Amino acid sequence: MQNSTFVIDTNHRPLPPIHPGLARRLLSTGKAAVFRRYPFTVILKIEVIEPINADIEVKIDPGSKTTGIVLVKRNKVIWAGEIQHRGATIKASLESRRAMRHNRRARKTRYRPARFLNRTKPKGYLLAATAAPDRLAALGPTAAPDGPGRWLAPSLLHRVFTIDTWVKRLVKYVPVGSIAMELVRFDMQKMQNPEITGVEYQQGELAGYDVREYLLEKFGRKCAYCGAENTPLQIEHVQPKANGGSNRVSNLTLACHACNQKKGTRSIEDFLAKKPEVLQRIKSQLKTSLKDAAAVNATRWRLFETLKTYGLPLTTGSGAQTKFNRSQQGYGKAHWIDAACVGEVGVAVEVNQLLQPLLIRATGHGTRQMCRTDKYGFPRLHKSSRAKSFFGFKTGDMVKAIVTAGKNQGTHAGRVAVRASGYFDIKTKHGKVGGVAHRYVKRVFQLDGYDYGM
Ligand SMILES: [Zn+2]
Repeated sequence: MQNSTFVIDTNHRPLPPIHPGLARRLLSTGKAAVFRRYPFTVILKIEVIEPINADIEVKIDPGSKTTGIVLVKRNKVIWAGEIQHRGATIKASLESRRAMRHNRRARKTRYRPARFLNRTKPKGYLLAATAAPDRLAALGPTAAPDGPGRWLAPSLLHRVFTIDTWVKRLVKYVPVGSIAMELVRFDMQKMQNPEITGVEYQQGELAGYDVREYLLEKFGRKCAYCGAENTPLQIEHVQPKANGGSNRVSNLTLACHACNQKKGTRSIEDFLAKKPEVLQRIKSQLKTSLKDAAAVNATRWRLFETLKTYGLPLTTGSGAQTKFNRSQQGYGKAHWIDAACVGEVGVAVEVNQLLQPLLIRATGHGTRQMCRTDKYGFPRLHKSSRAKSFFGFKTGDMVKAIVTAGKNQGTHAGRVAVRASGYFDIKTKHGKVGGVAHRYVKRVFQLDGYDYGM
């Protein structure tokens, strides 16, 4: 099962995606040409003037390492992708740069003035750097719990930028009508201020899932009574229902099966009579109220703010809801399936679990370093120029070379490593082919900062 193929017309107008089989027929009969390899897009050789229903929804489940992103048309997933972020790589390279600078200052060399407290962090909202001014204007006053202008580390901001890039691509090639994303871990609104108002919680009901996630966060994912971790936890009434205890979240905690059984219908004072310190802790934990901020992280908020600038209807869901929707429909765990299950409509979404999502790995755009250092920070190699592109090719471009003469005779396809000499290396499935003259090389896909797979 393959992803649908994107189609645009001669005016680059996005048309509804089509079955890959139909795309193959259009290509073989010469009615269309390949426009882009990733995501696979074909361009029709005619103009389409009929009105087109923008009824496709982009759904996103942002994760710290991997983000699931799908296109849903009439409750059916037609395209799926998983974006692998490179936050850890960014963090590591910034740390290594800092360590090298520190080392240089500390070394016995000429005087280098200390360079701390001379950096500025951007003030105000730094949205996706790519956001157009009209998209920025569409952004109203913000109620983000992280506050406007809150600085976000480059490794986190990169996540926002990457997802924004992909939403922008999808909007370009597909008639998108709305966007949905998972924003919070549990929905405070749905629980209607759980610390004050009672909730009709029922195990397995939607509200129950949000309550559970909320309690897990509040009690640190362990049994409140014995501290057991990594064990199934049950929602537990502190004052038992039989004794008039309420269903309010302020009367709920989490306990392992053993503790739950042991406590039974006893009151908490009775049950913990011999453990006054535990009783004290639980009582104070029950009184504390989690802020919204505990459910939402700054990165997701920034993404939410960024996606608002598309001017499309933007809906949000909670992580608890996603989990509920997925398990309700019996789907397996995958980032793209989670994305499909986001939001209220995610409870009835048709997912073909055999669908192969496009695996998108963020690789970055290389380095601007003019001087490569060894692992101790000493200069090792100096680059002679900033040029990245030679004879119209960049290292990392996907190419195909049909070599007609010489030792490399044959067809080679893969990623190219360019050389100023004009003799390139091509990394193919079968190994590296060295010294291929650039005149034989044709570009198939231009490097765009991502690595693709199925
Ligand atoms: Zn326990």
